[in-house]
Amino acid sequence: MRVLHVSSRMKEEVERARENGKLIGFVPTMGALHKGHLSLVDQCAALCDVVVISIFVNPTQFNDPTDFQTYPRTLDQDIKLLETASCHMVFVPSVEEMYPKGGSFGDVNLGRLDNILEGAHRPGHFHGVAQVVERLFRIVAPDMACFGMKDYQQLIVIQQMVKQLDLPVRIVPCPTVRDLNGLAMSSRNLRLSDAGRQKASAIHRVMTDLSKKLAIEGLQPASCIPLGIKMLEDVGFSIEYLSLCEPETLLPIEDPLNGRSGVLLFAGWLEEVRLIDNLLINV
Ligand code: AMP
Repeated sequence: MRVLHVSSRMKEEVERARENGKLIGFVPTMGALHKGHLSLVDQCAALCDVVVISIFVNPTQFNDPTDFQTYPRTLDQDIKLLETASCHMVFVPSVEEMYPKGGSFGDVNLGRLDNILEGAHRPGHFHGVAQVVERLFRIVAPDMACFGMKDYQQLIVIQQMVKQLDLPVRIVPCPTVRDLNGLAMSSRNLRLSDAGRQKASAIHRVMTDLSKKLAIEGLQPASCIPLGIKMLEDVGFSIEYLSLCEPETLLPIEDPLNGRSGVLLFAGWLEEVRLIDNLLINV
């Protein structure tokens, strides 16, 4: 496994692999790797010949400077972990490498996606995400890129960006990997206490319970979602949103599902850590 820091070297390596007829897969991350990230690497390796992972804590997607500063950084440990995975190259650029003066950004219009749910609570977040992913795509030039459904709105944003800019990359959505208690694995979980991680398992329990009420009992979102919010508040969460939306557009669903699919999306704070999760309801 090779660790590269410079974009031009990264480009050369990928070009050489492509000349040899290899299919290139890519997994962009911000590091502090866990089994969720490794599942993306595995999925990528199952589809491609060469797997490239990037580790870059992207400053432009953090609207809160403290969140950026305290974001966990565990590079040595990440590289050790990747050595045991099906990963061929690790790209670890510096901020200067990713954002050289005068660097351009394709004209992506995220429209309402930038202003709802995560976008409403983290202004500019998705612009930063789209910006860094576009730059990484131009450097790594992958045939495929794996993204976790854990960050559901991000996945939709990336799909929209790829479509708008007509980028030649296939986006592969990968299922959320969870702890045994149901808590979605996240680098941010490192900042929770043991008790906090236990409490946070309520997110998945509440959403699973809501999904039954919505899909099987046919309840109206407004009659059951507030109860889910109350349960999470009782555990100690400060809730930003818990909403039922259409899976492709993320438009809110107000009527009973009645056989349609939906996605429940959650964001909230516990022990000063911001957690997100979601649950697809496929009827
Ligand atoms: P991050 O390092 O948090 O930016 O995440 C990098 C990639 O890993 C994104 O595509 C995430 O959606 C994905 N990811 C993060 N946590 C999980 C998880 N628990 N299960 C599956 N994918 C995940």
